[in-house]
Amino acid sequence: MKARPQDEQHAAGQSCYQQQLNADQRQYCPPLNQDLQVDVAIIGAGFAGLSTAFALAGHGCRNVAVFEAGELGAGASGRNGGFIMGGYSLSPAALLRQLGDARARELYQLTVSAQQLIKSRMREHALDCDLVDQGIVLADRFGRPQRLRAVQQIMNQRLGADWQWLAADALRDWVRCDHYGNGLLEPQGAHFQPLAYVHGLASLVQDQGIKVYSQTPCLSVRRDGRHWQLNMHNAGQECVQVRCKKLVICCGGYIKGLNVKQAAGIMPIATYMVATEPLDDLLEQLLPGAAAVYDNSFAFDYYRKSPDRRLLWGGRISVQQRSVDWIATRLKADMVRLYPQLAPVKIDFAWSGLMAYTRSSMPVIRQHQAGHWSALGFGGHGVSTTTLAGELLAAGLCGVNEDYRLFDHYRAQRTYGTLGLCAAQLLYWYQQIRDLTLRK
Ligand SMILES: Cc1cc2nc3c(=O)[nH]c(=O)nc-3n(C[C@H](O)[C@H](O)[C@H](O)COP(=O)(O)OP(=O)(O)OC[C@H]3O[C@@H](n4cnc5c(N)ncnc54)[C@H](O)[C@@H]3O)c2cc1C
Repeated sequence: MKARPQDEQHAAGQSCYQQQLNADQRQYCPPLNQDLQVDVAIIGAGFAGLSTAFALAGHGCRNVAVFEAGELGAGASGRNGGFIMGGYSLSPAALLRQLGDARARELYQLTVSAQQLIKSRMREHALDCDLVDQGIVLADRFGRPQRLRAVQQIMNQRLGADWQWLAADALRDWVRCDHYGNGLLEPQGAHFQPLAYVHGLASLVQDQGIKVYSQTPCLSVRRDGRHWQLNMHNAGQECVQVRCKKLVICCGGYIKGLNVKQAAGIMPIATYMVATEPLDDLLEQLLPGAAAVYDNSFAFDYYRKSPDRRLLWGGRISVQQRSVDWIATRLKADMVRLYPQLAPVKIDFAWSGLMAYTRSSMPVIRQHQAGHWSALGFGGHGVSTTTLAGELLAAGLCGVNEDYRLFDHYRAQRTYGTLGLCAAQLLYWYQQIRDLTLRK
């Protein structure tokens, strides 16, 4: 089976991150133009693929190549909200229910370590990614302090976090929105320019002698004795072959069409972002704090200030890619609902990206058969968890340890294609209506 044309999957509006990237940050990764043999081939140069490559280099494994279908960061990693948050797409309460306190706490704490790792990586290697290390604020949209207290209790007492209570007055030091009650501050949370981090990671990986190829989609994979044979296309539309001992699939929500079993376990879900025109005093009036902000609805809004004085705003999900006009109109309406002062403000950029959801809402980080690994299904919590996955997979691939087996509980289960997507959309609409009826 052939991979579906990548352009069709990636067509989703240009993000402001492309424009913010300067020449020093931008990495050039050529397409592959001849057959290649490597120890490890990684398909997908998002955070998952590049984090795995970088961690492999740390274990001395450098005969590695990473292949990207589009441009570097064309997937979710280069288009996301830039929230470096702890936890998984699966809710903390569900994680606790499914794994019990000790294991849930262990898995949650791994994501906290990954948050620290990303930040220390940026500092240690002087990656210029506009890091703002001042926490993430969760605001109560329902005016129900007990509900927020229960979240704080789960996070702190059962998962070992230290989320701080922000009474309504204190919350206004961070964010001035009349629709919020109290809030919680995740102090380890941070935000950054995600596309700059993709390019930064690619530069670190290339410095270690690992090759990164862009515009080189993998069309199919097949087992060939003890090796894997990958059939690749390059920008010149020629077919080239890659032979490797170990294969790592990191294709995120763009995996459709690749002939690996795990593709059937991934639901591609689109989500959307806009960036306003640069704003002056108004931005500081609405967001006096530097933290990124989201709320506790199911269909939550998330936003933050960018260094070029824009408001970056994300929200909504759907099983369809939408037009740039649709995104700009809907997200502007969401913004104005919370902040009527933003009504006259212009939207300069609108874009979408695909998240990869599994049925469990947990990532699939595992070895499926000898030499065939994957890091997939990070959903809307992919910044820290892909970093964690890269560390776990690299240690597993190099035989250093089997810590990746901490995720054994979560396997790729079929998502039933269109039927699964319809079910996901109906659930989202139901939750959206529920949010509306409960909101203050
Ligand atoms: C708009 C948006 C906002 C988000 N906000 C946040 C946030 O604020 N915080 C957070 O933690 N998470 C957020 N997420 C989720 C997060 O971005 C993702 O979970 C994470 O980036 C997934 O990384 P990945 O490497 O698995 O996938 P991707 O970044 O999607 O990378 C997969 C790559 O594989 C490539 N690929 C696919 N098939 C092939 C093939 N056959 N051959 C070669 N290459 C292939 C794709 O082109 C793609 O570049 C957001 C996602 C979106 C879309």
